[in-house]
Amino acid sequence: MVETEKKTSRKESEVMVTASGAWAQCLEIIKDNINYQKYKSWFHPIKPVALDQKTLTIQVPSQFWYEWLEEHYYNIMRSTIAKVLGEGARFEYSIVLEKADQEHDDLSVRMPQRSSPPMHSEPGASSYDYNGYHPSYSTEAIQNPFVIPGIRKSKIDPNLNDSYVFSQFIEGDCNRLARSAAIAISENPGKNSFNPFFIYGGVGLGKTHLVQSIGNKIRQDFGDEFSILYISSDQFTNEFVHAIRNNRAREFSMFYRNIDVLIVDDIQFFSGKEKTQEEFFHIFNALHQDGKQIIMTSDRAPKDIQDIEERLISRFNWGLSADLQMPDYETRYAILEKKAMENGIEFDPEIFEFIAHSFKSSVRDLQGAIIKLLATASLQKIDNIDLPMAKRILKDLIKETKKHISIEDIQRLVCDYFGIDPNKVREKTRKQEIVEARQIAMFLSKTMTKSSLKTIGLHFGGRDHSTVIHAIHAVEDRRETSPKFQQIVKDIQQRIELASM
Ligand code: ADP
Ligand code: MG
Repeated sequence: MVETEKKTSRKESEVMVTASGAWAQCLEIIKDNINYQKYKSWFHPIKPVALDQKTLTIQVPSQFWYEWLEEHYYNIMRSTIAKVLGEGARFEYSIVLEKADQEHDDLSVRMPQRSSPPMHSEPGASSYDYNGYHPSYSTEAIQNPFVIPGIRKSKIDPNLNDSYVFSQFIEGDCNRLARSAAIAISENPGKNSFNPFFIYGGVGLGKTHLVQSIGNKIRQDFGDEFSILYISSDQFTNEFVHAIRNNRAREFSMFYRNIDVLIVDDIQFFSGKEKTQEEFFHIFNALHQDGKQIIMTSDRAPKDIQDIEERLISRFNWGLSADLQMPDYETRYAILEKKAMENGIEFDPEIFEFIAHSFKSSVRDLQGAIIKLLATASLQKIDNIDLPMAKRILKDLIKETKKHISIEDIQRLVCDYFGIDPNKVREKTRKQEIVEARQIAMFLSKTMTKSSLKTIGLHFGGRDHSTVIHAIHAVEDRRETSPKFQQIVKDIQQRIELASM
């Protein structure tokens, strides 16, 4: 709870009781109308704070939360408040500026502990509390790099690739959260709830494209107002090593503290590089404290990165971390169509279908396939590529692309084994045989894919990560006590491996 609430007067607390009553009624209605997981994730943490005639003020944990509610639950919230308080009633949001210690793991939404909202923070005037951490570089601290002449903004080349823009990035369920947060950041760099913004996901899923789009959009909309820098973590390390070697560590550090929007790609490569991590840690703190935007990518979630200092990992979680998944079939199809259209070449839909079905693990491979077709068509002056020709041209590429096991594949194969409908494992049913299949499928999804517990839960009808953990433990326990069960799990696993070869 925020400090100030303790000080509320009696009159206000009476109002709060009424507000609570109204909110409790709203919750009852909302609970009946949306999926329980979503209810728990998005509505449970909301607190009623005031009721003024027909306006119920509710407190949401962040700006992002508010935007999400407005975007996804506008209608149900509208109708609910009207049912509870009568026609013309409405909600007002109070956005939390200070956050207690809850983590919303399920949604990867984590709020930093701030004493003031980013929009009110001015460089140098901030009073952030870094969990008791006091920068150890203070002995040679650069109090205000802006006073150093000639260093400000002018010469920074943002290192961006012009072709990575939002309009070229196809939206799908696989990237919706990351994409919308990226757009929000580009509209208001540094002054939003997603700072730092951490995107993670496998190779070729669009991380670089998305973070560069943020940089390009800021440049397009704000011109030179923000100094932007995109850098890979390897480049950062090399530059740092070079700077130390040349006795220029101080300049290095000053240079980075002058950036307004810092984008560091593939941060997993910092693992094991202690000195680089330390330097980055200080830069991170300085930038964050000044309300500068920090954007990072990695091939895995912060907690899964090896050999990175705990204090850095905890900072990665201050803002928003969002994952990118492989696009589903429809999104893959849309990506192919767009690519072909850009090149002014038409293909039969069956060719798109074939490619979308054959390349399931990376958007880069998917694009590689269509580019190969385009190139072959133009080199060999073929006007009309038909399906057999496309299959011939892409044969080698498909062989190279090791097949990827998806959660859907696992669900399908587990259900095949038990002779049940794969939809059933995503539904609520608690029939014993379905529960067993569901638990095995969850267990294998964890052991055979790189998916997070959250992602697995979402694929099983929006269950939360604790349900997945429970399922995994249940399967592990039973495997130990029943050799027969152990054999079943092994058989299914073999089938999945075979199917993915
Ligand atoms: P990563 O950094 O995750 O390895 P990239 O950003 O390099 O992946 O993406 C690989 C390729 O796939 C790039 O050419 C990128 O433009 C393309 N790509 C990825 N996701 C999408 C998408 N959703 N829409 C359009 N193109 C995409
Ligand atoms: Mg990349």
